[in-house]
Amino acid sequence: MYFQRRGFCQAKRLGKVPGESGMRASRFCFEAAALGAAMALGTGGPRRRPQHCTAQTSGAQRFGRHGIAMQAAKRPLARGDLKAVGDALTFDCETGNYHTFCPISCVSWLYQKIEDSFFLVVGTKTCGYFLQNAMGVMIFAEPRYAMAELEEGDISAQLSDLAELRRLCTRIIEDRNPSVIVLIGTCTTEIIKMDMEGIAPKLEAELGVPIVVARANGLDYAFTQGEDTVLAAMAARCEVADHVPTVPAALPGAKSHAPLVIFGSLPDTVAKQLELELKKQGITVSGWMPSSKYQDLPEVGPNVHVVGVNPFLSRTASVLVRRKKCKLINAPFPIGPDGTRAWVEAICQSLDIEPQGLEERERAAWQAAKEYTEILKDKTIFFMGDNLLEVSLARALTRAGMTMLEVGIPYMDKRFQASELQLLIETCKDLQKLVDRG
Ligand code: SF4
Repeated sequence: MYFQRRGFCQAKRLGKVPGESGMRASRFCFEAAALGAAMALGTGGPRRRPQHCTAQTSGAQRFGRHGIAMQAAKRPLARGDLKAVGDALTFDCETGNYHTFCPISCVSWLYQKIEDSFFLVVGTKTCGYFLQNAMGVMIFAEPRYAMAELEEGDISAQLSDLAELRRLCTRIIEDRNPSVIVLIGTCTTEIIKMDMEGIAPKLEAELGVPIVVARANGLDYAFTQGEDTVLAAMAARCEVADHVPTVPAALPGAKSHAPLVIFGSLPDTVAKQLELELKKQGITVSGWMPSSKYQDLPEVGPNVHVVGVNPFLSRTASVLVRRKKCKLINAPFPIGPDGTRAWVEAICQSLDIEPQGLEERERAAWQAAKEYTEILKDKTIFFMGDNLLEVSLARALTRAGMTMLEVGIPYMDKRFQASELQLLIETCKDLQKLVDRG
């Protein structure tokens, strides 16, 4: 195993925002619009064609026989038809290969988000080249991630994985002094069955630095689920308290409420805007996961309410609910003005707070985005499964005036996305946007 700092030299850069793929950048612009900021749909950042690695998994899932997945938009259904098709969605599950961006790309935004971390991706040259292309960071910038490239001796088990990783982690600690090292597993570590979970506690005890293991390989996970595996591993490290103190009200006259922890990584500006939206309702956020410093991981426990900001975080939610006994707020996701409103409403309801002025906020956000939604109006859209944001985007774009023909999604956790699916149905019913598929 040898050490590779992967980065781009200036000449190879593809003209992108460092650490953000085009998809994420445009998505975040949409969220900014949800909060009343100027919306730039389709201009959220330089676009690149997604690059697909050929080592992918099977089991793509498409859903929505009624109302969502439609092959030909023949006619809008009449109101009377809606009940028959809108009460439940039918999910079509298709087997076969699907292609998504590799989940190890989560390193590109997470290493920036967790400022005192170091991400070590353990894989082959294929993963190294993928990372090199996915990230727009110059090697001179000494990024806080690296590749541990497996050699013949590692793959044929002639070298000791523990000794090799010990050598690399020692060097990382000497060079960069991180508060946490995140070991990212890849397809190859899965195939050779490297026992990263067994090695990590030994290294942690020897080196005195927390070592978190996340399997973000392209065999099992779709693009965005890399973040989910990292956050789920970090959630398992959160301290548990029997009773986390209630939070004083954010506004004069408002009542104190149970602690609220938000999970999911967002750019700092968007996270701040969401916090401000909640503050307007008298809600103070107790903590975020990931936090900018590893030591600031929030305290959790049975009285802590947790809510996600991204639809692909179902494993993190499971860890917080099953192992840490937190109360999950099942809400639509803050994507688009309608989603943001529903997200804030669900939090208020869970914390027993009467929401104020959300309708006006939503209206103002749509008004601010009018120049762009006018372009979208009466256009049709088809989603191919890629990143698990499809349902939320479909719902927001339907509300923006588009007609959805079909939504494909690489993986669907119906329980975690239950509120989002419900809001999608309601939006389609409300706007009479259900279209006969047959
Ligand atoms: S983890 Fe798998 S899918 Fe991702 S770059 Fe490496 S080999 Fe390709």
